[in-house]
Amino acid sequence: MREPLAPGAPAPEGIIPLCVPEIRGNEWKYIKECLDTNWVSSAGKFVDRFERELAAYVGTRYAVATCNGTAALHIALKVAGVEPDDEVLVSTLTFISPVNTIRYCGAWPVFMDADPIYWQMDPQKVVDFLEKECQWHNGALYNKTTGRRVKAILPVHILGHPCNMDPILEVARKYNLVVIEDAAESLGAKYKGRMVGQLGDIACFSFNGNKIITTGGGGMIVTDNEAWARKAKYLTTQAKDDPIEYVHNEIGYNYRLTNVQAAMSVAQLEQLEEFIKAKRRVAAYYVQQLGEVDGIAPSREAPWAKSIFWLCTILVDKDRYGLSSRELIGHLSGCGIQARPFWMPIHRQRPYLDCQAYRIEVVDRLYDQAVSLPCSVGITREEMDRVVNAIRSVASPVDS
Ligand SMILES: *Cc1c(COP(=O)(O)O)cnc(C)c1O
Repeated sequence: MREPLAPGAPAPEGIIPLCVPEIRGNEWKYIKECLDTNWVSSAGKFVDRFERELAAYVGTRYAVATCNGTAALHIALKVAGVEPDDEVLVSTLTFISPVNTIRYCGAWPVFMDADPIYWQMDPQKVVDFLEKECQWHNGALYNKTTGRRVKAILPVHILGHPCNMDPILEVARKYNLVVIEDAAESLGAKYKGRMVGQLGDIACFSFNGNKIITTGGGGMIVTDNEAWARKAKYLTTQAKDDPIEYVHNEIGYNYRLTNVQAAMSVAQLEQLEEFIKAKRRVAAYYVQQLGEVDGIAPSREAPWAKSIFWLCTILVDKDRYGLSSRELIGHLSGCGIQARPFWMPIHRQRPYLDCQAYRIEVVDRLYDQAVSLPCSVGITREEMDRVVNAIRSVASPVDS
């Protein structure tokens, strides 16, 4: 097997990469403007403009740019009031970043299962956990098993598809919990016609190299809460209370985005709708070409969702298809095609083995069967056909 490529890294000649950036708009022009005017560091008009334009796009009142999505999540949790020894309900089927940020705050994750059809945080299990495993006491909700206060729910909209938010928002209101959306993979996705990122109390995006729009590395916090937005700006810029005397009344962070990175993002944001259309075309083509292959099941879009199909993922049933997901990834690698499995569920990762995981019944099968296929915005029809043919060439003829 070939060495896996770093996410977002350019692929060697002839290799079809999983997901690489598309840079074909005003990126050069805006970055040149930063260099020509000497505005290269962590202030400047592109930072302000990116914040303004992203907030307008998502439909929130405020946005605060950060150096990456993980930093955005860390600060979002802090301003939302997550404190040491609190608990946060989080999807176990996710990239690890949001879970780590819970621990950065000294709080603890409680892992939630995925639903079997759309693979997002299972809202029924969230409700069941809060109703059956927790109790209301002195104006707060406590986990009966650990005795800790449950403070927040952190749904992760994975692969470009939204979580089923209404039941999560309803139970959060009932028990006075904050909802922090991790929308890093799903900028532009919609839930019942509403943009992800404006559904909960606060949300985060990432502009890492493999995300739908990229600054190389960057992130954003969005919210309608003015006090939280102000606090987020303060904490991400070293908590400076007096810019002349350098007075700091709190411990801050240097989580700023630079103007050069913001310039690139502004150019990328101009192309977002086009990128989403391209991603949806790629996904539709795979569904059309692979939907009938025995033992292959492409991801599905809920009737209440508009997915941006950040990644195109299939489930591989070894008994019917003939190869396991890992064998298929090996076969594709041999054909010069980069594919990858899901993240190992976080409740199985060493730092989190002692944390509570509630009725996890679905994600192990998803982890066992999932394969994400090449789906860059710029992927060509010929490249997709190479992927489709490589997958079909394995399938045994269907008995009639
Ligand atoms: C990429 C990603 C992040 C973190 O973003 P970085 O910018 O890489 O720090 C957080 N959550 C999810 C679900 C992601 O996919």
